[in-house]
Amino acid sequence: MASPSGSPLRHLLGIDGMTPDDILSLLDLSETYVDMNRGPDKKASVLRGRTQINLFFEPSTRTQMSFELAGKRLGADVLNMAVASSSTRKGETLIDTAMTLNAMHPDVLIVRHYDSGAVKLLSEKVNCSVINAGDGTHEHPTQALLDALTIRRTKGRIGGLLVAICGDSLHSRVARSNIHLLNTLGARVRLIAPPTLIPAAADRLGVEIFTDMKKGLVGCDIVMMLRLQTERMQGSFVPSIREYFHFFGLDRAKLALAKPDAFIMHPGPMNRGVEIDSEVADDIDRSLIRQQVEMGVAVRMACLDLLSRSRPDGGRNTP
Ligand code: ASP
Repeated sequence: MASPSGSPLRHLLGIDGMTPDDILSLLDLSETYVDMNRGPDKKASVLRGRTQINLFFEPSTRTQMSFELAGKRLGADVLNMAVASSSTRKGETLIDTAMTLNAMHPDVLIVRHYDSGAVKLLSEKVNCSVINAGDGTHEHPTQALLDALTIRRTKGRIGGLLVAICGDSLHSRVARSNIHLLNTLGARVRLIAPPTLIPAAADRLGVEIFTDMKKGLVGCDIVMMLRLQTERMQGSFVPSIREYFHFFGLDRAKLALAKPDAFIMHPGPMNRGVEIDSEVADDIDRSLIRQQVEMGVAVRMACLDLLSRSRPDGGRNTP
């Protein structure tokens, strides 16, 4: 994967702007790490001597853990900055925090922040590589990559598939990154949600929009469910949880409207009984949710590996 200048990519900030080749080469590299993670020896030395700092300003389970595991399996020294007990609580700005960490010569920063665009801003101030682990409602590129890897391994392809992204796409960085990726690789995307949870400019995203889930699911190969992101909502976007589940919660009856071999996905965390019923979430024949978590580690290893090649000396001796 290269920047427009042809040099290896230094940061991973979003899927928007990546070419099909960029995405496919990352997926191919991830495959090698899936195999390694399933074997007895899970340790490589690609990042030996490198320092990775995870900087998460929003809660995370899967993303933070898998980045930590990915860095450790590749041999890096991995530090998790405890944001809750750090100087950011004393009023230090994001940029001052970034500059402080930069002075310690990390090789890669993994950053999650509640403001859209904050990770890009930070990447412009530091010498090391930066990976966006989710910025506000903007992008979550490694989630879209792990979703793509999961889909490709299950269905054998991505191009030509019909993917329904159901739920709160208005506040979802996962939806945005997936829309870019799926469009780039030739899948068709449907957004299914009540009108209050559809992004205003959705018609410019290259998606079909359905406010009736029963119609939107017809013929779909993949049904991707999203959580109601209440932490980003000011005011009420749905009349009640009970009504939301009735019309937009995935259950057996609604799933039956998709293709008979359709699979269910969810980036987590799931809110059972809100956007998804336990019966379908836990159906190992239809749900790919556990595979998504597994693919997350491999994809993050591939991203770390690839970005570590971005400096001539691999970043080893750069101050
Ligand atoms: N874990 C995903 C994210 O950080 C999805 C979610 O939180 O609902 O965006």
